[in-house]
Amino acid sequence: MATLANKRIYIGRNSNDNRLHLIVTNSDDSELKNVQFGNPNSVNNTVSRTQKSDNGIISHCRIEIDKDGNMRIKNMKDRNITYVDGDQIMERYLEETSLLELGKDRYKIAVNTILKIARKALGIAEPGGNNVNNGYANQDNHNHQSHIRIPARHLERVWNDYHDGLIELKKKNKRTQTNRMMLMMFGSGFGSLIVGLLTSYQALEPGLVAVFTALPSLVIGMIIFWIMAKDDSIEEEDRINNTFNRDYVCPHCGKPLGRIAYELLPSQMPQCTKCKAEFEF
Ligand SMILES: [Zn+2]
Repeated sequence: MATLANKRIYIGRNSNDNRLHLIVTNSDDSELKNVQFGNPNSVNNTVSRTQKSDNGIISHCRIEIDKDGNMRIKNMKDRNITYVDGDQIMERYLEETSLLELGKDRYKIAVNTILKIARKALGIAEPGGNNVNNGYANQDNHNHQSHIRIPARHLERVWNDYHDGLIELKKKNKRTQTNRMMLMMFGSGFGSLIVGLLTSYQALEPGLVAVFTALPSLVIGMIIFWIMAKDDSIEEEDRINNTFNRDYVCPHCGKPLGRIAYELLPSQMPQCTKCKAEFEF
């Protein structure tokens, strides 16, 4: 059965009529279909445009589907706003039941709807009946009765690393912000002081004037350097999320467990929803 495996779905706004605009491609970005959805003006301009450019396809966000049907969403630009089930994300695994919200005004669309639009555009049959796995590899369907037990205690450390990492990052960002603000205040104060001195003592030696002129430039230069210095917090957050997405998965089949805290797994997810393995905590 044909599926959406190894496809990408670029999601954004059509700039002509402000409808939802999807471009479905293969995993190498070779274009398959261009689709519009919804009524004109149903998507406002806090959702980025989908369009082809010299550097490939640009869009608000992109869903990437791997060969096993696992879906990952990526926010395509830092300034784009993408929520998955209420959490703002840069990148994360998706469930078919997830709800996307795009842009500041939170244009809502279900992942399932996007998949349906893409399947229809490519002429792929809807997975029907009781088959809940979206028509992807269904090797799990015949062994619902088996109860594999699988150790899952290591997930506690994965969760804690993720959780502590994000808190640490938030603290660091706050410290950086405070430092920058203090430096800016110091710099502008110092600059004004020097300029003030220069204007009040016009009888200074030419050499001293040169020094006093050079100093504020140096300070301002340092401040600009500090402000422009590469902010790696987004990369760091991305790294924390990637590690979490890679490791916080069913130890048996690799299905992502989502953002369920480790303490809540025994009550909320005692077994894998895909392969049905029972977790041992
Ligand atoms: Zn599993």
